[in-house]
Amino acid sequence: MIFLDEAVVTFTSGRGGAGAATFHREKHVPRGGPNGSDGGRGGDVYLVADRAKRTLYDFQLRDHYEAPSGEDAHSNKRGSDGKDVEIHVPVGTILWDLDLDEPIVDLAVDGMRYRLCRGGRGGFGNLHYTSSVRQAPTIAQKGAPGETVRARLELKMLADVGLIGLPNAGKSTLISRISAAKPKIADYPFTTIVPNLGVVVHRDRAFTVADMPGLIEGASEGKGLGHQFLKHVERTRVLVHVLDAFPIDGSNPVTNYEVIENELKGYSATLYGRPRLIALNKMDLGMEGDDEVLIEFLQEKSGDTKIFPISGVSGQGLGPFLDAVSELLDLEDETAPPVIIPSMRRESDDSWDVVRTERGFSVLGQRIIKMVEMTNLQNDESLRFLHRRLSRIGVLKKLEEMGAEEGDFVKIGQLELEYAEDW
Ligand code: GDP
Ligand code: MG
Repeated sequence: MIFLDEAVVTFTSGRGGAGAATFHREKHVPRGGPNGSDGGRGGDVYLVADRAKRTLYDFQLRDHYEAPSGEDAHSNKRGSDGKDVEIHVPVGTILWDLDLDEPIVDLAVDGMRYRLCRGGRGGFGNLHYTSSVRQAPTIAQKGAPGETVRARLELKMLADVGLIGLPNAGKSTLISRISAAKPKIADYPFTTIVPNLGVVVHRDRAFTVADMPGLIEGASEGKGLGHQFLKHVERTRVLVHVLDAFPIDGSNPVTNYEVIENELKGYSATLYGRPRLIALNKMDLGMEGDDEVLIEFLQEKSGDTKIFPISGVSGQGLGPFLDAVSELLDLEDETAPPVIIPSMRRESDDSWDVVRTERGFSVLGQRIIKMVEMTNLQNDESLRFLHRRLSRIGVLKKLEEMGAEEGDFVKIGQLELEYAEDW
C-alpha cells in the first residue's frame, strides 16, 4: 500500500552581515588607515534524511524555515556567522522546486545532508578595498541576501503498521481514533474497497497505519479481494492484530484469533513471521475482571506476542499500546539496509540580460542583482565602484546599444536607478 505524503515549504538562508567602513583612531592623528572588517556569513539551510522521521506531518504544523543572518562587522571586529539550520525529513523524501517545477534532490539515504539554501556572504569591509591608488576607501559592502526556495516535499511511503483482523474487529475505528492526518493514496489499484490510512503522532514520532480490509477466511486461497490486499500487507513492517474481545455474534475471540493467524500462515511465511502485537479491542464493553481470563486464554495461543487491552471508542489502553508499536518500529529500523540513489544538484548561474520595460530597462541575472543588493547606495564611492563593475561586465554597453537615454529608469533587482551618460 503506497501512501503519498506531500507538503509545500519555504526555506530561506540567512543574509550576510554588512562590512564596516571604519578607520584606525590614534592620538593626534585625525584619521588612521582603514580597518573595517567583513560581515559574518548568513546561516545555510540543510535538509537531512533521518530514518527516525516517517512522515511529513511536521510540515503541516510549520511551513517556513529560516536560518539566521550573519552579524555586521564592528570596525575591526569581524561579524560572527549565522548558525546553519538542519531540518530533518524522512528517508525517501524528494524535493521539488515549486517555481521551476523540477526535482532538486532525492534524500534517499539515511544521514544524507543536502544544502538547499546557501547563506549570504558577509559584506567586505573597507580594509578589503585598499590599494595603491585607493588608500582610504570608504567603501563597505552590505551582506549578500539569503536564498529562498519554495519546495514541494514528496514522500512515497509504505505503511509502517498494517492492521489485520476480522471484519468488525474495530480496525477503522481505531485508525480514526489514533490518526492525526490522512495521507493520499498514491497508486491504489482497487476500486471497490478503499483502505483506511492514517498518520499517527505519538511522543514526537509519526508513523503510518493502514487498515487492511478484506483479510477474511479463505483469502489465502485467493477468494475475494483478500488475496490482493495480503500482497500489500506483506510490505508493511509491523502488524497489529485487532481482535474483538466481545463479538456481537457470540463467537469466541480466541477462535477468531486463530482463524486470522492461520490465514496469515497459509498465505505467506514471511508475513507470518512479521513482528506483531495484539490489540484486544472493545474493552469498554467488558465488566471488571473479564479481561484477565480472556487474556490468559489468548496468551496461551499467542505465545510471545504481547497483548494490549484497548478500546478504540473510549481510548483506554492506547498509550501503552502506541508505545509498544513505536518500540517495534525502532527495532525494525536497526536492521533495515540503506538504499543509495545519487542526488541532483543545481548550479549557480552567471548569465545576465537586459530587457526593455514600460518604464525603461530591466537588468536580469542572479549575480548582478546580488552585486547591486550588496552595494551601500548611500556611499558615493561604493556607487562608483558598482558602476565600474557593471561597466566591466558589459551591462552599461548593452544599455547604450539598446538606446538608453539620460533619465531612463533602469531596474536591477529591487533597485531602480536613473540612467546617466556619465555612468
Ligand atoms: P472494522 O471492520 O474492523 O474496520 O471495524 P469498525 O471500526 O468498522 O467497527 C465495527 C463496529 O464496532 C462499529 O459499529 C464500531 O462502532 C464498533 N467498535 C469499534 N471499536 C469499538 C470499541 O472499542 N468499543 C465499542 N464498544 N465498539 C467499537
Ligand atoms: Mg473497516
